[in-house]
Amino acid sequence: MDRSLQAIAARAEEGLPLSPEEALLLYRRADLASLGALADGVRSRLHPAPVVTYILDRNVNPTNVCVTDCSFCAFYRRSGDGEAYVLPREVLYGKVEELRALGGNLVLMQGGHHPHLRTDWYAELFRDLKSRFPGLHIHGLSPPEIHHLSRLDKSSVRSVIERLKPAGLDSIPGGGAEILVDRVRREISPKKCSSAEWLEVMREAHSLGLRTTATMMYGTVETDEERILHLSLLRDLQAETGGFTMFAAWNFQPHGTPLGERLGNRKTTPAEYFRLIATARVFLHNFENLQASYVTQGIKAAQLSLRYGVNDFGGTMMEENVVSAAGCLHLTEIQEIERAIEAAAFVPRRRDFFYRIVDDRPLPAPAGAAA
Ligand code: SF4
Repeated sequence: MDRSLQAIAARAEEGLPLSPEEALLLYRRADLASLGALADGVRSRLHPAPVVTYILDRNVNPTNVCVTDCSFCAFYRRSGDGEAYVLPREVLYGKVEELRALGGNLVLMQGGHHPHLRTDWYAELFRDLKSRFPGLHIHGLSPPEIHHLSRLDKSSVRSVIERLKPAGLDSIPGGGAEILVDRVRREISPKKCSSAEWLEVMREAHSLGLRTTATMMYGTVETDEERILHLSLLRDLQAETGGFTMFAAWNFQPHGTPLGERLGNRKTTPAEYFRLIATARVFLHNFENLQASYVTQGIKAAQLSLRYGVNDFGGTMMEENVVSAAGCLHLTEIQEIERAIEAAAFVPRRRDFFYRIVDDRPLPAPAGAAA
């Protein structure tokens, strides 16, 4: 690193906040090995014990019907499409039962912006799930979904959250952020909520006592400056509320999407992922946790990311296509996650949504502590 970058790195090592301009310089000009070492240092200062956490959770998409038509999305269907669905209650119950059978307790529930499913429908669903599965953690409805419900109901975002929380909503996922810059959003998802509206949902959720996560999907049409601006907006809101538990990033998956076709199915490289998350680890000084995205990056890249500032492997997900008969497959996935963490010289431990360890195995001593 040259001298100006070394000065920036020295401040980051001390835990001092960097300016967006400094973060941009690091992101663009630091060599990847030095940037990774800097991020690894920040991670070990924040997490002295050599532990990498993960959570046993399940991804449930109650509906794929959506009116928002994001150009990067391969998941949604329009109402009336032969593949459009709204999952019946019994199917949803079955999915939670499978999760519980494996010892998991968190459901990540996100789906399309259905034109007719309103806040009351979700509130009733959450109440049903909570009465059937006491103690279940419902991590659900990303900011654009909450914003969509507020439009359907012609009510405020705050009142939507105020109705969902007593019904059983425990926390809100940071999905639908993509890049929090309206120039980008107008180009890739013009019908989706704006950057300010996304942040406002999170601000309201935090003020009502719900913790949330923060994400980024990069690699579409944004510039480097816009990537840093995205991180900067998250950092500012975290300084204001302290409500984010973690940050995760992944690249645009172009296959089968109109935007992918338009961009020639161009996909960013793993090196760019490492560069981005290492910069995020250094710049997001007020975020305790950085999560890998093994579902999009693959298990090998996720493993390597543990040396670029990441301290959490994320959730087991149990994707839709992992049917009930594949319970054993899921167990294999857990073993695979643990093996990947161990091979990177960390100790795997299970956690809950709040990053509390829920694992009977003892924790290792912090690095450098006397035995
Ligand atoms: S809002 Fe969500 S489900 Fe709907 S098109 Fe956009 S990304 Fe897909």
